[in-house]
Amino acid sequence: MESIYNYSEEMLKEYFIRIGEKPFRSSQIIEWLYRHKIESFDEITNIKKNVIEAVKRDFYIPQLDCVTRQISKDGTNKFLFRLSDGNLIETVLMHQEYGYSVCVTTEVGCNMDCQFCASGLRKKIRNLETDEIVLQILCVSKLADVRVSNVVIMGIGEPFDNYENVIRFMKLINHPLGLEIGARHITVSTCGIVPKIYEYADFDLQVNLAISLHAPNNKIRNELMPINKAYPIEELIQAISYYIHKTNRRVTIEYILIKGLNDTIACADELATLLHGLNVYVNLIPYNEVKGKPYERSTPDSRLAFFDWLKKRRINVQLRKEQGADIDAACGQLRSKHLQ
Ligand code: SAH
Repeated sequence: MESIYNYSEEMLKEYFIRIGEKPFRSSQIIEWLYRHKIESFDEITNIKKNVIEAVKRDFYIPQLDCVTRQISKDGTNKFLFRLSDGNLIETVLMHQEYGYSVCVTTEVGCNMDCQFCASGLRKKIRNLETDEIVLQILCVSKLADVRVSNVVIMGIGEPFDNYENVIRFMKLINHPLGLEIGARHITVSTCGIVPKIYEYADFDLQVNLAISLHAPNNKIRNELMPINKAYPIEELIQAISYYIHKTNRRVTIEYILIKGLNDTIACADELATLLHGLNVYVNLIPYNEVKGKPYERSTPDSRLAFFDWLKKRRINVQLRKEQGADIDAACGQLRSKHLQ
């Protein structure tokens, strides 16, 4: 028996051909699973009983077990889910002007070891399977009774370290007969796994890319993000530039502002030079302090000064307002607390 949410449309087509059925059954199944969100194959009304019986022999419809749900004053919801093997993951639902946005987790724990991040406090145990990423969207949209219009792959884990499942997940939630989440409304964020950025440039969906840069040079980036030792900042910028030329899409640069470390005007100026001429959008994010980590949030004044400097140097930039700070919504915080 296999989980049906691990199957891409192509895999389902092959399956139906294999059992002597019409390949278009895959579209029907996708509509039932993702649009009607059925919990049992018996709810299907437009496919013959004997075909349903075959599907029931070969597949099951999995569920996630919701352990806690916290609701922030600003409406942000944070869910802690238990997977079938007992591991815990977190998913965040945010309400924005343009609709509901979900932030999904891609791995149990993370090995990237970014020094400021709560996720890295717990080593990676395993990748999430496609179905476990898909179910985060389905469960949240059912539990909160909302239509999810935006997805950010920015929860715990490094998505490009679980590349195949993440790609399959994006195709499944984009499917026009299912959740129909527009490719332009899906964003994957990476700490900078350079070979995967080149691979992703060839991916045929119009999905977005965000890069966790957080530093304007190798010295600071090496201190904050060990991945920079494998793929230094020049190689990363080169990969971003290739991606932009290949896809013609603007890349988001994430930059968390940490007091005294990367938030000076000198850093802003170096960042502007680094990004000069690239079609990017810089998101300045206030750092969420993490217990046990030495880093502090930058002051509102230095955040504004940093922002103004980038503007002056003609960089596209925005100061991101934070959501869910009162419910540990920053990457890995809720899970970490629960495991203590
Ligand atoms: N591994 C991927 C996606 C997960 S992290 C990546 O690195 O992009 C999602 C974003 O949250 C990243 O930009 C990450 O650097 C940032 N982040 C992690 N901990 C944070 C914290 N305590 N405060 C603010 N942002 C944080």
